[in-house]
Amino acid sequence: MTDEVEIPEDHPRYQSLLTRHRIEEGVEKGITSKQGLIAEGRGESFDYLLGEETLPSADEAELAAAAQLLLAEHAVLSMNGNVAALVPGEIVELAEATGADIEVNLFNRTEERMQAIADHLREHGAENVKGLTADARIPGLEHERGKVDEEGIYSADVVLVPLEDGDRAEALAEMGKTEIVIDLNPLSRSPRTAAIPIIDNIMRAVPNMTAHARDLADASREELEAIVEAFDREKTLEEAEHAIRDV
Ligand code: ATP
Repeated sequence: MTDEVEIPEDHPRYQSLLTRHRIEEGVEKGITSKQGLIAEGRGESFDYLLGEETLPSADEAELAAAAQLLLAEHAVLSMNGNVAALVPGEIVELAEATGADIEVNLFNRTEERMQAIADHLREHGAENVKGLTADARIPGLEHERGKVDEEGIYSADVVLVPLEDGDRAEALAEMGKTEIVIDLNPLSRSPRTAAIPIIDNIMRAVPNMTAHARDLADASREELEAIVEAFDREKTLEEAEHAIRDV
């Protein structure tokens, strides 16, 4: 990919620089909002405190998330401007490995940004991008923020909502959806609302979920259910919080 050539891979802060570069490009292309830049900064500080690596408890959460996506009747991966800038191709691969749909769902929804994100995802191999129709509403949210696709997030049983705002994460959970949240801040409301909170950088979390989903491709329903049942959300949140406080 052209956006990766300028940063030498042996640079000690390669991942962090790559992340910044992708977000910057996202803003330039009209994919990521200026608010998204602030969210990125907030995420980076937590990643620094977590040692910029996937904790064993986060890996367990990523395994459980992969199993939960494979078990779903109808799973949807929700995309915002930061997610689209950071992991467009990686999300397409996760969707393929789990049979999930992709839906663009923005906190600050504008038609231009919706279109720019959908185009960017298609450039990275997405065939069917939902969210543009927005013919249903998440109850309890103000009009623009609650818009979703009837055949997407609205009717999904399992939703992956990375880097999601706390209010929307709560409203989706109240609709009875099984929520998987990726967020580097274990104290944020969104992961605290989730059935499966993943406290990890989305740049590491999504490819790792895909790898787990591929490993589980031939697993039985019982095996997948056992993985989800063994997952302990409280422990995951606590371990991440301890990792941050003990630095
Ligand atoms: P809440 O209402 O839940 O408290 P918030 O106000 O903290 O949400 P934002 O400021 O919109 O939410 O920030 C988005 C969240 O995304 C932050 O918690 C931040 O840690 C997280 N985040 C940012 N970049 C990444 C990333 N690359 N990977 C994972 N999480 C990230």
